[in-house]
Amino acid sequence: MKIFQLLLAPAVALMGRLRYPYKFATIGLLGVVAIVYLFLVLTSHLQASMDTGHREQLGVMLDKPLLSLVQTIQQHRSLSVALLGGVKSLTEKRINKATEIHEVITAVDQVVVAHGAELNVLTDWQLAKAHWENIQANGLQMSARTNRDTHTAVIKELLSMVARIGDNSFLVLDPNANSYYLMDAATNKLPAALEIVSQLRAHGAEVLATKSLDETGRVEFVGEVAVLRSKLEELDAALQRVAASNPKVAPRINQFLPPFHASINDVLKIVTDDILSARFTADTEQFIEKTTTAIDRGYAQSQELLLPVLHELLETRIKQMQHQYFESAILAGPAFLMLFIYLATGAYLAVMSSIESLREGADRMAEGDLITPIALATKDELRHVAVSFNHMSEQLARRIKDAQQHSTELEALNLMLKSLSATDGLTGISNRRHFDEALATEWQRAARLKQPITLGMLDVDWFKKYNDQYGHLLGDECLQRIAKVLANSIARTGDVVARYGGEEFAFIALNCDSKQSQLIANNIIKAVEALWLPHQMSEFGHVTVSIGVASIIPKAGDAAHTLLKAADDALYTAKESGRNRIVIASFDSTPE
Ligand code: GH3
Ligand code: MG
Ligand code: MG
Repeated sequence: MKIFQLLLAPAVALMGRLRYPYKFATIGLLGVVAIVYLFLVLTSHLQASMDTGHREQLGVMLDKPLLSLVQTIQQHRSLSVALLGGVKSLTEKRINKATEIHEVITAVDQVVVAHGAELNVLTDWQLAKAHWENIQANGLQMSARTNRDTHTAVIKELLSMVARIGDNSFLVLDPNANSYYLMDAATNKLPAALEIVSQLRAHGAEVLATKSLDETGRVEFVGEVAVLRSKLEELDAALQRVAASNPKVAPRINQFLPPFHASINDVLKIVTDDILSARFTADTEQFIEKTTTAIDRGYAQSQELLLPVLHELLETRIKQMQHQYFESAILAGPAFLMLFIYLATGAYLAVMSSIESLREGADRMAEGDLITPIALATKDELRHVAVSFNHMSEQLARRIKDAQQHSTELEALNLMLKSLSATDGLTGISNRRHFDEALATEWQRAARLKQPITLGMLDVDWFKKYNDQYGHLLGDECLQRIAKVLANSIARTGDVVARYGGEEFAFIALNCDSKQSQLIANNIIKAVEALWLPHQMSEFGHVTVSIGVASIIPKAGDAAHTLLKAADDALYTAKESGRNRIVIASFDSTPE
């Protein structure tokens, strides 16, 4: 598993780096390259090599009948020359040779019509054919010498056609030694040597038929013999090279050479002993026959061994190429497929790793982690998604922080609002609403704890008159000072002091029975008196208050307002009985 990961790492890195269009383009391109490679590059390249092989084969195919044609025209040359020299017995042989030549020309024609244009030898062929027709029509009207030269010219044309075929069929460009040497020996060295032997045959036939050799003729003969020796040497060397590069044909070449050389030597012996010595005893026909044996041996070597082996060699090579083609196709196919799969897997893993990172990031976010950013290993478009995700996460974190801050502020405001709604604006002590709520709560608690609870009602005496006398502003100030006295006098935890309305105040004292409440009320009366707020319209000369107090241990089911009413009644009594006094409610712990 680790090894796979390691192997795939470069593909994942590469594909992760590429953006999606490039990812798909790379994989697609690879597919296209694979197809192009397999079906175009590979085929065209190998096809070209195979075409070359086929073309070379074509050359061999055309060379075979062409060399036969050269061979027969060469024979026709000696027969014609001997006939013109006076050997009449050769007339029929010459006519037969012409028929034979006609057949060979038909065979060559077939190949030339089919492939001549390809090998660019159509004109050469037409020209050679026309020249041959001229020999047929006018040969016997020529001198022996002219007839020989005219034949030689046609043979030269045909041999240069063979050379041109070698060029155009790429035979001479063949880089393989074995086929090149075969070609060189079969279509170049051997025909060249044989043509010289054949020229000797025609020239010798002419001399023997006429039994005359002038000085020019002798020089010519000596030259021809010298050229033959050098051509034979070249041929020997060429055949040795063939034998060396084609071990299979070596035995047959070694078999061929001694009798070939022997028959050539036979010919040369007649040339030196009989012709050049001007004895002219040799029979023309016999000379022609002997020479022909040597020449035919040579041509047979070419037609039966060299050219067929060359053809076979080319055939094998084409087959090998086809084999190679299939091998490379078979190797290249899976190689491209592997690369394709490799990169495609890389792309898949890169995409999957990004998706996995995004998924983990989203999960983290869902669990409340808005701080850890998503980090992608890839650099494609998914990275933009991750960046947007991280941005979203940051924004969300910021907003949540803002919201938390707002909520804290809101809580504080709420608290303030709550306290404001429970406070009296003028005096700063609790208002009636808060007093009622507190009474209900404390009533319940006292009932539960079975503790006494005291409620006091306090009213400023002759306050209307105070206002009238001193004005509302001082009236307000008076109320504020009384509130302060009250708040200071009843200050145990849980106790409540409130402005009940107008110039009326109320208080709740917890765990306090009527005895203790008497004390509290007394303290209040004294404290107010101690303020010594002048009040001319009061019979006491200063501001006083009247207080009604009621205390009780509440029982389950008792209503709080009974206590309130008792205190209020007590206050009423206090007022009625002269003001500036305390009245304790007539019930103690048992309300009516
Ligand atoms: P009693 O001794 O019977 O209580 O006589 P009183 O004049 O105090 O009683 P009354 O109920 O007739 O008058 C209460 C007066 O209190 C009337 C009103 O002008 C005055 N008062 C009520 N609320 C305020 C306030 O907030 N500020 C001022 N300055 N006066 C107020
Ligand atoms: Mg009043
Ligand atoms: Mg009053």
